[in-house]
Amino acid sequence: MHRIAILFLFLGGALAQQPGKPTPTPTPAAKATYIRAGRLFDGSSDSVRQNVVIQVVNERIQSVAAADSFAIPAGAAVIDLSRATVLPGLIDCHTHLGSRADRYDEIYNFKDTPFQSAFAGVVNARKTLEAGFTTVRDVGSLPFLAVDLRNSINEGLIPGPRIVASGPGISITGGHGDLNNFSPQTRVSMFPEERDFQIADGVDQIRHVVRAQVKYGVDVIKILATGGVLSKGDNPGSPQFTPEELKAAADEAHMAGRKIAAHAHGTQGIKNAILAGIDSIEHASLIDDEGIRLAKERGVYLVMDIYNDDYLLGKAIEFGLPKENVEKEKKVGRQQRENFERAVKSGAKMAFGTDAGVYPHGDNAKQFFYMVKFGMTPAQAIHAATSNAADLIGRAQDVGTLQAGKYADLIAVSADPLEDVRALENVGFVMKGGLVYRDSISGKTR
Ligand SMILES: [Zn+2]
Repeated sequence: MHRIAILFLFLGGALAQQPGKPTPTPTPAAKATYIRAGRLFDGSSDSVRQNVVIQVVNERIQSVAAADSFAIPAGAAVIDLSRATVLPGLIDCHTHLGSRADRYDEIYNFKDTPFQSAFAGVVNARKTLEAGFTTVRDVGSLPFLAVDLRNSINEGLIPGPRIVASGPGISITGGHGDLNNFSPQTRVSMFPEERDFQIADGVDQIRHVVRAQVKYGVDVIKILATGGVLSKGDNPGSPQFTPEELKAAADEAHMAGRKIAAHAHGTQGIKNAILAGIDSIEHASLIDDEGIRLAKERGVYLVMDIYNDDYLLGKAIEFGLPKENVEKEKKVGRQQRENFERAVKSGAKMAFGTDAGVYPHGDNAKQFFYMVKFGMTPAQAIHAATSNAADLIGRAQDVGTLQAGKYADLIAVSADPLEDVRALENVGFVMKGGLVYRDSISGKTR
């Protein structure tokens, strides 16, 4: 009966055309799907709604309504998640999709070709999406792997999350992004004349490399403001780049309408980056009270990867992680977790980022447990990976919450993640842009 009424309305519309005028070419019918959610955490607050219907039309959410006040049209496609908790698709703000977590032996600097990274990226993108991460920011890969991966996924060539892509993390000569402590005769280079769009010294070179990265399609700039853990010959605590250089990078990125993220472990480098106008501090391992205060004052996000320590001090050693890096991780990892707890207590803005690639892709959700262990409520940890992450990456109009107008990017879990956040390690349903990529828990669909 209902369908006949709708058909009549359409016919009525067509018949109302003035005679003699050509009939307009029909546009493809909008595809509507109705999702019954038993419990809904929509990401806009801490509260959970019971028995909700989410109407999805094509790739976006049309409406979110209480089930008892919403009539699903007869014969419509329904996905029954009435025994599950539905949440926004998760967002990881710090990944390296082209990196593999079994490549710690230095020999791979010389053995692996760029194609190896690209193939790994294809596999890792799928694993990440199937784990419930429907959006990621990729903050450092070969030029310009993340851009190509983003485009291939957007074209529908391969499955994967939405990607906010950076180019290589910009480094000083001899810094975290350089190949250090080999003979000066040793070179591994793709674009020597551009220093691989990565190494820059001085304000002019920095402005050039930011502009060049923008030219090749990056969404975000990544800069390395201190030494690192997984590089040779540099110290995670030491600042890299002068305050003037960091400011030039931030200004240039912002002029191009891009945000800029800074890798920074060391106390002073973190402050230099915040004062330079950088949008997020990655790792923030040795941040002190003043650094936390500055981040809070300026609304700078902290993206602290507090899970991967377990992997680096375990499996990565088996995969040949050199002794120098193991020692650095031992020092930095423990302090980072303590400082995470202090940052949470202070109320600084925090977004979820894991450094996936350092540990296996697809395990991203393992970090939630540590975020709760070190001071967050489960709801806070989920906000960090949904609404807050969307705000940091500048995509809050499209992702991060389940509201009318947003992309239909959503996940479902059978256990209650607000009771035990580890429920997010077993995502049973994944939809991105209205398409289902994983479903092991819905009731009968029709
Ligand atoms: Zn990283």
